[in-house]
Amino acid sequence: MSDSNYDAVALLSGGLDSILAVKVVEEQGLKVKCLHFTSPFFGKPQKVSHMARVHNLDIQAIDIGQDYVDMIANRPKHGFGKILNPCVDCKILMLRKARERMEELGASMIISGEVVGQRPMSQRRDALNLISRDAGVRDVLVRPLTAGRIDPSEAEERGLIDRSRLRSISGRGRKDQMALAKHFGMTEIPTPAGGCMLAETESSRRYWPVLEYSPSPQTEDFYLANTGRQFWREGYWLAIGRNQGDNKRMESLARPGDLLFKVAGFPGPLSLGRQFEGKPWPQDIIESAAAFAARFSPKARKHGGPVGVNVSFEGETSQVTVTPLTLEQDLWLEPQWDDAKAAIQRERQRNGQAEG
Ligand code: SF4
Repeated sequence: MSDSNYDAVALLSGGLDSILAVKVVEEQGLKVKCLHFTSPFFGKPQKVSHMARVHNLDIQAIDIGQDYVDMIANRPKHGFGKILNPCVDCKILMLRKARERMEELGASMIISGEVVGQRPMSQRRDALNLISRDAGVRDVLVRPLTAGRIDPSEAEERGLIDRSRLRSISGRGRKDQMALAKHFGMTEIPTPAGGCMLAETESSRRYWPVLEYSPSPQTEDFYLANTGRQFWREGYWLAIGRNQGDNKRMESLARPGDLLFKVAGFPGPLSLGRQFEGKPWPQDIIESAAAFAARFSPKARKHGGPVGVNVSFEGETSQVTVTPLTLEQDLWLEPQWDDAKAAIQRERQRNGQAEG
C-alpha cells in the first residue's frame, strides 16, 4: 500500500486510551498509522506485533531514545513531575516526532489519546494547550476521546474529521473507556498506560547518577542503568550482574572504553565499569572495583585470602590480585532515590521552578 494513503498518525503507548483514540478515528473510515515510541524508559517494541494482531492496528515502533536522553540531560523545559518523569516535554517531543512521520506519510492529522483531567501534570487543560502549542501541532492535533471537552481543533474545523462523532470523556474514571472498549468489541483490555520507568523511584534512582556524572549521557547508559545492581563511587560507575540474564545483557551492552571484571577461578557475576569521557579510572579505583566485584562471588569470599580478578579493557585482559571487600568496607554505594530527589529539588529551587 502506498504511504500516501494514511489520513492520520497516532501516538500509541499501548495503553487503553491510546488504542481507543485510534478506534474512534478509524470508525469514521479514516486510515491511521500508529506510532509506538520506544526508549530505555518506555515502549515495548517486542509487543508491537501482538498489539497489532489483537487490536487490528497498523503499528510502527520508532526509537526516540537519544533525543529523549538529550532532553532530560539538558533538563526538560517544563520540569520533572513527581519522580523523574518530564511528562510535558515528553509529550511535546513525541508530538514533534509524530509530525515528522505524519509529513513523511502525507497524512494530515495526529491522534492522541489524552483525556482532560486524567493525569495531574500533562493532562490538565492548560497543559494540553501548552503541549500542542510548543510541539507546533495545533493545526493537526486531534484528541478524539476528549474532543467535546476542549475547543475544536483546526483539523475538526477544517472538516478533516467529524467532530460530532468524537467523544467527551474527562477525568480519572475508567467507566467511559470500558464502555467504549466494549463498543469496539475489544477482547483484551490493556492496563491503564503506565510502565514508564521515569515515573518509578526504583528506576529513577538508577538514572540520576548517570545524569549527574556523565558529560554526555547516551541511550545505552540508561539500558545499562536498567541492568543488574548499580554502584557508584566518586562518580565512577560499576554495574554488577545479579544473574546469568544480567551478565549476558551487560556483555551485549559493553562498549569501547568499558572495563569488565570477572573473578578468576571462582564462579561469580560479570561487572562492568563505565568510563566517562575525560574521567578515566585510576588504578586504585580499578583495584577497589575489582575487590568489590569479587565480594559478589560467595566462593571467592569464603576462600578468605586474596583472589585474582580479570579486568578486560578494549580486548586486552590483565589480572589484579585483591581481597574481596567485606560489607563494612563498602565504598561503592547504591544510588538512593532520596538523594536524587534532594538534588532535583535543589535544581528546581535554583531555576525557580514549582514542585512537580
Ligand atoms: S509518564 Fe513517562 S511516557 Fe508518560 S508522558 Fe510522562 S514521561 Fe512520558
